Amino acid sequence: MSQRILERGQIETLASRSIPRVRVPERSQVFAQRSARLRTLAQGSPIADYLRFCAVLAETQHAALGDFAATPPTAAQLALAHEHRMPPLAATSWARAPQWREALSAICAAVLAQTEFPAEVTRLAARVRAASGDALEAQADALLGVRDGAVDVASAPFVMAALQVNWTALSSGFAAGDVQPLDVPGVCPLCGSLPVASLVRAQRPYQGYRYLHCTLCACEWHMVRVQCSQCGADGKDIAYHSLTDAAAGEANGDAAVRAESCSRCRSYRKILYHEKDPALEPVADDLASLALDLLLAEEGYERASGNPLLWTAEQG
Ligand SMILES: [Zn+2]
Ligand SMILES: [Zn+2]
Repeated sequence: MSQRILERGQIETLASRSIPRVRVPERSQVFAQRSARLRTLAQGSPIADYLRFCAVLAETQHAALGDFAATPPTAAQLALAHEHRMPPLAATSWARAPQWREALSAICAAVLAQTEFPAEVTRLAARVRAASGDALEAQADALLGVRDGAVDVASAPFVMAALQVNWTALSSGFAAGDVQPLDVPGVCPLCGSLPVASLVRAQRPYQGYRYLHCTLCACEWHMVRVQCSQCGADGKDIAYHSLTDAAAGEANGDAAVRAESCSRCRSYRKILYHEKDPALEPVADDLASLALDLLLAEEGYERASGNPLLWTAEQG
């Protein structure tokens, strides 16, 4: 009987071939699932009003995405991006479709139509809707890092929500197998943005694998578990924190939402476990678990990157 022994590198190569590397968002579901999850999480939450506001954004994003006509990259653009190992829909250089401002206007109108929001939110929506095209394009550039400029933190969630519609219209048109990996594992292979959080999926063929979720285009890409998504450290540098574990006084590892921290770069991102709760959604559950951010801040860790619907002065 002959036995073939594989070297460690060969085993890893074989394993990585069988793991689906990328999940592109499902156009008909991504924002619908997010809004439903936000509505659920708002019940009993100390930040219920904010989650309901974000649910209205997501509902309107869903409607705006329905008839958003995005022009995909040409074969030549794709080949050039591939050749230079650059993301083909780079947030900092892709020409936005002017229609993104129509999505923004619809988002403002939806917020204005609500009667439950505080007056300051309504005033903000009116201000964004009345802003000039040039001012909105400048804000979009500042948010996406196209050029330096002051981010208007208050209006950022509105603008970001509309930009997400633009980029999700593009990313959802890709076949997962056509997305080329980049040399930098911590950025989105389609648009080059940072992930909002990561998610361990429970359904085949993704079962047990961890995916980073793009803050802008909702693309997800595989990263091995127990590895820092910011600096690549692994092993003993990685620790897990959760509110339930903290309350129990021990790491029982039972929480559906945890923070994965890194002692090398002192940063963290949240990691969600679908096997604990299949309804978990990265943007919504990251927002709703704000108390976990406070816990990590107390322990001296910094968020590796922000939530697209919650901007702070530091990000600006
Ligand atoms: Zn992306
Ligand atoms: Zn790190």
